[in-house]
Amino acid sequence: MTDRTTSDLPIVVTTVAELRARVAAARAAGKRIGLVPTMGALHEGHLSLARAANTECDFTIVTIFVNPTQFGPGEDFNRYPRVLVHDLQLLSSVGVDLVFAPEQQEMYPAGSTTFVEVAGLTAQWEGAVRPQHFRGVTTIVAKLFNAAAADVAYFGQKDYQQVTVIRRMVADLNMPIEIRVCPIVRDADGLALSSRNAYLSDDERRRALVLSRSLHLANKLVEQGETDTAKIVAAMRACVESEPGVVIDYVAVVDGDTLEPVESLRDKSSLHHAVAIVAARVGTTRLIDNVILE
Ligand code: AMP
Repeated sequence: MTDRTTSDLPIVVTTVAELRARVAAARAAGKRIGLVPTMGALHEGHLSLARAANTECDFTIVTIFVNPTQFGPGEDFNRYPRVLVHDLQLLSSVGVDLVFAPEQQEMYPAGSTTFVEVAGLTAQWEGAVRPQHFRGVTTIVAKLFNAAAADVAYFGQKDYQQVTVIRRMVADLNMPIEIRVCPIVRDADGLALSSRNAYLSDDERRRALVLSRSLHLANKLVEQGETDTAKIVAAMRACVESEPGVVIDYVAVVDGDTLEPVESLRDKSSLHHAVAIVAARVGTTRLIDNVILE
């Protein structure tokens, strides 16, 4: 690990060519390169990834790019918060080595027609509600992996399906990069941090707590010995539905690798791999959360 200055704003580069040149220099100096892809509007969740990268690597790159291809028609691409200067201030407190913040035409020049698509894992859950979403995610992440040539990339468990899909892509395409998953960072009251929480009114934010409450309930039922996932899912649903103005997209208990629904937690291996996942709309804001059942 190298010493990083934790007061100046980080160096920002906006072109793939300059990113490559700086990474090549770091690599020539024998540094291990860590990559943290984000869409900006940074919060403690993102910063926890940058800190993990700083701890395990010698050169940390945070990317900030609101990726148009992962938003569907009618989604929040246009209103997604873009606060680069504030993001850089937050990152200066962590002390990263480089921020890559390209414009849209740098990542998708006119004439781009190539996409990376993972089949199977993307069919359900987020993929069912947001049909083009994962194709956009895997395409931009593959492009960032190619551009940054990092040794390790850091993702949050918050987007459980996303990181499962990215692991699949990395394995299927023999990408020479390690994937690390960091725990979900929550506010003190349990709400998982998300850039989209900025859309919530005070009242909606209070209602949104029902998502983490439902996951807490799932874990409590498992602790009490419940192994029937239909009962766990029914209890989670009832919990979320008890909050007016919160509309469920899905609630499920799934296998942590295949993302297929798990029927019973009776045998130890299924419990070991089970994840409770929830997605719901609170007003016009769509939120997701999950917990690994233990
Ligand atoms: P985003 O900017 O929403 O694309 O997220 C960038 C990365 O930060 C993804 O790997 C997310 O899973 C991760 N992330 C988002 N929210 C959290 C959180 N509350 N805790 C940990 N990681 C998070």
